[in-house]
Amino acid sequence: MKRIYLDGNSLGPPQGDVLGRIARFVADEWDGQLIGAWNTRGWWDAPITVGERIAPLIGAAAGQTVVGESTTIWLYKLLSAAMHLRPGRLEIVTETGQFPTDRHVIDSVARQFGASVRAVPSEEAAAAVSEQTAVVSLCHVDYRGGRRHDMRAVTAAVHEAGAVMLWDLSHSTGAMDLQLDECNVDLAVGCTYKYLNGGPGSPAFAYVADRHVEVIEQPVSGWVGHADPFSMDEYHRPAPSIRKMLSGTPPVIALAVLDHALDAFDGVDMAVLRSHSTALTERFIERADARLRQHGFIVATPRAPAGRGSHVSLAHDEAYAIVQAAISVGVVGDFREPNLCRFGFAPLYLTIADVEEAVDRLEQLMVDGTYERHEFQVRAAVT
Ligand SMILES: *Cc1c(COP(=O)(O)O)cnc(C)c1O
Repeated sequence: MKRIYLDGNSLGPPQGDVLGRIARFVADEWDGQLIGAWNTRGWWDAPITVGERIAPLIGAAAGQTVVGESTTIWLYKLLSAAMHLRPGRLEIVTETGQFPTDRHVIDSVARQFGASVRAVPSEEAAAAVSEQTAVVSLCHVDYRGGRRHDMRAVTAAVHEAGAVMLWDLSHSTGAMDLQLDECNVDLAVGCTYKYLNGGPGSPAFAYVADRHVEVIEQPVSGWVGHADPFSMDEYHRPAPSIRKMLSGTPPVIALAVLDHALDAFDGVDMAVLRSHSTALTERFIERADARLRQHGFIVATPRAPAGRGSHVSLAHDEAYAIVQAAISVGVVGDFREPNLCRFGFAPLYLTIADVEEAVDRLEQLMVDGTYERHEFQVRAAVT
């Protein structure tokens, strides 16, 4: 049975010849050049050069995108940097129901700065900004229900109040066209192991708008972000470029794999990719309404295409067991608390026929009652 992978929003599958790329890396670069590869094979600049390959996918001109830390660590660095950009303002605004790591970091940066956190329902975030607010930190696409913010409108409202806008693009990047420069975004972070298919734990990217690069201060000054690292200067002098956001030695193997994964986006028009994504989610919602509603599923994702990202969540009381049963018939989605079956539609490699086949199989396992089997009720560590 063909596997229909609807979890590329959580961990993208390998694209192209990843094994070959890793083998060549080990043989030609690591073993072949040893320490010389830092210069001869571009290892030193990989966080910047790989960042420049992500830039066109997010609507960023050159010099503003860098890759290297996890999303969590970038959030910490950028939130701290945002607090420094707005001295005297002691509030961070965010939305309730944030992805846990985003909220955990927001809370810890607030503690460090003696700031308060104001968390409101996502649709009220723009209106909650005041002259106390230093930074507004939101997920562009919500990891649970898939609700998508209007990046342009929210960013404009945040600027109106004089605050800094930080977007988390983890569930957007690689599934849609984004216009960070055009929307005047200040700061952004995004995951690369979801729709970009960089591999488990591949390093995330950070975006810092050109106008902030010169003045921005990040909290983990390290030698890799130094203006002249091999001067072995005892005192830190930040690089006069996006490189200043880096801290320690970059994960070169992971960057090579991510670089390879990005080949799949060469020549892809992101607006066309977005319309395919919309067509996939539209068809899934249509079919879910027609065929799955009578089995207790409720579409929990916004129905207006502009209001959602590239995944669709269906609420069901037996969501956990259903997701397990679906995996056993080759439809791989995931479960999110409290009652969501989440299905990601990566537009890079899924077709309308995949969507239709997936709904057929979901309907069949509800008709057969497959999900009621005991083995599907037992919870694993990663859901
Ligand atoms: C996937 C995801 C992360 C992941 O953070 P890591 O540091 O890679 O574990 C963070 N935030 C959001 C919104 C995500 O979707």
